[in-house]
Amino acid sequence: MCDYGPMDTCDIIVIGGGAAGLMAAGQAARSGARVLALEKMDYPGRKLGITGKGRCNLTNTAAHAAFLKRFGSGARFLLPSLEAFDNRSLMDFFSGIGIGLVAERGGRVFPAGVRAPRVARALRAWCEGCGARIVCGCPATEIMHEGGRVTGVRCGQRAFSCRAVIAATGGASYPRTGSTGDGYRLAGALGHTIVPARPALIGLVTRERGLCACDGLSLRNCRARLLISGRERAEEFGELQIAGYGLNGPVILTLSGMAVDALLARKKVQVSIDLKPALSREKLHARLKRDIGSRGAEKLGSLLRGLLPRELVGVCCTQAGLKPGSPASALKQPETERLIDWLKNFTHTVTGHRPLDEAIITAGGVSTAEVDPNTMESKLVRGVYFAGEILDLQADTGGYNLQAAFSTGHAAGLAAAEALYGDSNSRFL
Ligand SMILES: Cc1cc2nc3c(=O)[nH]c(=O)nc-3n(C[C@H](O)[C@H](O)[C@H](O)COP(=O)(O)OP(=O)(O)OC[C@H]3O[C@@H](n4cnc5c(N)ncnc54)[C@H](O)[C@@H]3O)c2cc1C
Repeated sequence: MCDYGPMDTCDIIVIGGGAAGLMAAGQAARSGARVLALEKMDYPGRKLGITGKGRCNLTNTAAHAAFLKRFGSGARFLLPSLEAFDNRSLMDFFSGIGIGLVAERGGRVFPAGVRAPRVARALRAWCEGCGARIVCGCPATEIMHEGGRVTGVRCGQRAFSCRAVIAATGGASYPRTGSTGDGYRLAGALGHTIVPARPALIGLVTRERGLCACDGLSLRNCRARLLISGRERAEEFGELQIAGYGLNGPVILTLSGMAVDALLARKKVQVSIDLKPALSREKLHARLKRDIGSRGAEKLGSLLRGLLPRELVGVCCTQAGLKPGSPASALKQPETERLIDWLKNFTHTVTGHRPLDEAIITAGGVSTAEVDPNTMESKLVRGVYFAGEILDLQADTGGYNLQAAFSTGHAAGLAAAEALYGDSNSRFL
């Protein structure tokens, strides 16, 4: 636990010691500013320390255009800060602070041979090495301002004066890591529009939940289609999991943002899973014919175990109206069609989503319309900057969200420090 220091006056206060805040604080301090980072938890970088299932998927090797596509409508806002500090720059940065990196499937970049907490510690050490002071156990409760300009930060009874504030408090998911939506209240009190927070990258609750004893069953190489009001809106290929409450796993997380928004708009949401995407209907017919030819005396349930995970055989028979106990050779044409329909369209009706607490990302936050994308400065209050997940900016899994936190943190830290040069009170003059 850190103690309060004597530094009640400084140039820049960074609120939040996560990925964005540590990057912002370090960059600003490196530029010569006196920087105080206030972190409400007992140590910084708690969320960073649990990312990527403990492995920390720091960024992605995707080229700029493909990278930006992952941010949907947020791409335009991210563009300048990503161009200024992109995935290559971030990889160089981490290599420079002693974290070797390795790119894996899908361009996902991970630290080589070290776990996520080690990355968080290295970032903290770099930040402090740049000269920033980190004060832990210090939740900011108000950003003070006067005449349209920031004047300081209040933490309960204690007030710190400064000339710039970088708000990097994260979103509202995984509150045990410190991100509890404080930033929305702080920014809202300054007059900023807060796009309502909602979960993104989240498991989906389905009507079919509990249909089978499949909790935790992983289905690889599936194609999942998201249907909204009966129309296909998105498609993903890869791995998904059947959970006790419904569906989860990488493919579902990617589809979940759109699904949650459609649920909020009270639209009908379904996920249709093609369990055999590599086999056309014709090929499936041929495969079944061959199987029945050689194993026709076996029970249908037993034959299906060659096509499906054991846990799904009962669900398949129930939903497709098949008799698992009858001989496979007794399968009639209409039953074969129903079986193939089921294999190509294992459909789930989405009735809800897991709570925001469990979301990998919070969608919504400070409206980017009120923030300068080059500097991250508020367009409403001079000297206030935003960085990271506090912004209404979100992407798919794959390292994109951390890159956005680092890019926006980098931009905010540099811009806040540079702005001090134009300030007659600055020690730079
Ligand atoms: C389980 C999980 C796994 C993830 N894995 C990945 C991954 O592998 N790759 C990827 O790209 N993204 C991943 N993400 C998303 C990624 O972690 C976040 O997008 C990123 O951490 C956001 O950084 P941030 O600095 O904006 O916010 P945070 O990392 O949440 O940091 C915000 C900080 O602000 C502090 N704070 C909050 N309020 C106050 C206050 N009032 N005063 C002072 N301090 C305050 C918090 O304590 C916290 O330390 C994952 C998320 C989760 C939940």
